[in-house]
Amino acid sequence: MSSTILTGGPVRTMTDDGHTPEAVLIHDGVVRAVGTLTEMRRSAYETPEIVDLDGRTLMPGFVDAHAHTILHGSAIDWVNLSGARGIGDIVRLLAERAAARPGEAVRGYGYDQSKLVEGRHPSAADLDRVTRDRVVQIQHASGHGYVVNTLALRQANITAATPTPPGGRIDRDADGEPTGVLFDSACDLLTGAEGVKVRNHGPNFHLPMTHAEIDHLFDLGQRSLLAAGITTMCDAQVTQLEMDAYLRARDEGRLRMRTEMLALSSNLEHLTGLGMSSRLGDDQLRLWGVKLYADGSVIARTAYLNGHACCGKPSPDGYLYHEPEELAALITTAHRLGLSTATHAQGPLPIGVVLDAVADARAERPRTGLVHRIEHCGFPTGEQIGRMADLYVVPVPQPMQVSLYGDSLMDEFGEFGGRFYPYGEFERAGVPVVISSDAPVTMPNPLEAVWAAVTRETLGGAVSGDAAQQAGRANALRGVTVTPARMLGRQDIGVIRPGARADLVFLDADPVTVPVERLPKVGVTESWIGGEEVVLG
Ligand SMILES: [Zn+2]
Ligand SMILES: [Zn+2]
Repeated sequence: MSSTILTGGPVRTMTDDGHTPEAVLIHDGVVRAVGTLTEMRRSAYETPEIVDLDGRTLMPGFVDAHAHTILHGSAIDWVNLSGARGIGDIVRLLAERAAARPGEAVRGYGYDQSKLVEGRHPSAADLDRVTRDRVVQIQHASGHGYVVNTLALRQANITAATPTPPGGRIDRDADGEPTGVLFDSACDLLTGAEGVKVRNHGPNFHLPMTHAEIDHLFDLGQRSLLAAGITTMCDAQVTQLEMDAYLRARDEGRLRMRTEMLALSSNLEHLTGLGMSSRLGDDQLRLWGVKLYADGSVIARTAYLNGHACCGKPSPDGYLYHEPEELAALITTAHRLGLSTATHAQGPLPIGVVLDAVADARAERPRTGLVHRIEHCGFPTGEQIGRMADLYVVPVPQPMQVSLYGDSLMDEFGEFGGRFYPYGEFERAGVPVVISSDAPVTMPNPLEAVWAAVTRETLGGAVSGDAAQQAGRANALRGVTVTPARMLGRQDIGVIRPGARADLVFLDADPVTVPVERLPKVGVTESWIGGEEVVLG
């Protein structure tokens, strides 16, 4: 491979020295040197190819610490229901798809009952209006549940006699008949005899699908992440379906982005049985840690927000996936295996359970190099934020949710709601600022997410939690590059410096200097992985 020199625009290295070199020399997929153009020419091994940035800004490729490739692919492929304002909209959109793709299951993604005029989830009877002779399945915006039509209920053999599994929810009418709404572990009932089962370990995203269908969704999801300039991602829920899909993509040469995988805790006993005692994989695909769930979803109002301190009303449907002792045992087991944990926790009580478990695990064996994470981390108390700093626990929120859902949270929970994802407090406590998408829960657009963390501006024009909860801009830009890279234990990505992988993005404006309100519109014109341009087919 020949040498390449990039020059002709601002170079934002994201290194601690704040250095902005004139040129970057790449050889064999790795950054060899940074400095002046003359120095780079002198350092090149052979006649270098000069790539002119032509005023564009060069940054390290973005790192998305929490996303779901295949689920994101479904959100792209399935009928988009995020704009639906009533059940009538949902039925109409699905009926259009049913007509356009005869013979196929009719699947939709992204409805949000709080945005519907009816103020409730659709029902099987509603979806029967789309069709009664094909299955209709629509996924909630949170990814934590489905509504299905009567045929799908019948095929899955879900009846009044079906018990509600622990960690799950089956809505029922006055006679105990299922209404078609299934959340969290109840979704195991939809995947068929051979399908993924997650028991009380989290939401089950899956429906019965062929390899060809899964690969199609994988490719769509990966393409969207790459188009957003994301060159490394952490897949936040890997079951046998995702593992199989990643390995197939790698073996077939379709895996482009670097991927760190979080195996769902339902597999912890298998990891123990395999003798896992550290991370497994290489710089492209690696089993990094274990994903656990403590409570439900803020958007679906199943997060465990009970007992919070202010006047807002508690979340009546909030629940925990595990008894606190069981969750603590899972976290301790992963820690003993040398694997990081990433626990979905939104409410103060479940966040406290995670912190206690990490404290116990570290007391037994410190392993301070082993980072533990709290995914989302919506409503930690001030005291808990201090404990995170002490225990090397990193929160991984999605600031675009502040923009999208901040208004309804403040309406419902007052001041408590405005504290959702308290970035300002994280910053002041010395807790790392990490910015992720949870794609498809929010669309992957790292600089838009930076904007959301910096402004906390809601759709309704309010500022969630006032200026005290805003993240600093420099810190937020590190939150999509070097900070998540470090959290993932990777010195070789998220920065432009000698020895780092040449994973790069070219931007049509400089995110360090552009007016903050323009950040969401900064475009990615090119991405490189390992010194090669990513060409999206
Ligand atoms: Zn989650
Ligand atoms: Zn997620």
